[in-house]
Amino acid sequence: MSEAPQAARALILFGPPGSGKGTQAKLIQDCLRIAHISTGDMLRERMQCGDDLGQVIKRLVDNGELVTDELVNRMVEERIGRPDCAAGFILDGYPRTLSQAGTICQRLAARGFGWVVVHLKVDYNIIIRRLAGRRHCMKCGAVFNLASNPPKVADSCDKCSAALTVREDDKEQVIRRRLEAYDAQTRPLIEFFSAEGNAFHEVDGAQAAPQQIAMRICELIRNRNGE
Ligand code: ADP
Ligand code: ZN
Repeated sequence: MSEAPQAARALILFGPPGSGKGTQAKLIQDCLRIAHISTGDMLRERMQCGDDLGQVIKRLVDNGELVTDELVNRMVEERIGRPDCAAGFILDGYPRTLSQAGTICQRLAARGFGWVVVHLKVDYNIIIRRLAGRRHCMKCGAVFNLASNPPKVADSCDKCSAALTVREDDKEQVIRRRLEAYDAQTRPLIEFFSAEGNAFHEVDGAQAAPQQIAMRICELIRNRNGE
């Protein structure tokens, strides 16, 4: 479970909000030892600056809308050029639109990376339940779930003891808008990636424990590397 991948590869992990992309990305990062790039985390970090751009981002994110392609494309392009990405990386929550997908495929090809695409499928009723129970540690980034992975002490982070919070965009009416944004803007990626002759896999994100799902995804990537 710990050797580095033989070829430099990007794993594109996408699925609806609450499908478990972030949880999976962290587990896969541990097993394949490649960088984890979460555009959601990068945007939340940027938001905290509180400057004009931070406020624009915050308004969109808190409202369940996507930020502009141009901004995330630029952020990701800068990030994948860093040395820790040379051996490969996981894209978590990016691309999220057809335009982002076209851009990243072109950039990956230009940089000599192969890619594997995994679509995490989860029923919307399960998603709504999961997101409503999600709790975040703003200090260290740990994520808990009241139903499936509760903190040991109520409202307090197991790792750093900071108070846990509910993300503004995990409130119910915002969750609905995020699912609408997913349907309209991200779901078309399924067709895009399956039609391109890419290594495209659908993985059920609700039928097994997170560890088992992560092992399955790591296998898919290893098989691809052995070709
Ligand atoms: P989730 O996948 O659970 O919705 P994320 O943390 O990935 O959560 O994203 C949170 C929010 O950040 C999104 O609802 C959106 O507003 C913004 N965001 C993240 N990634 C992108 C992206 N690639 N393009 C546009 N907006 C994004
Ligand atoms: Zn913490």
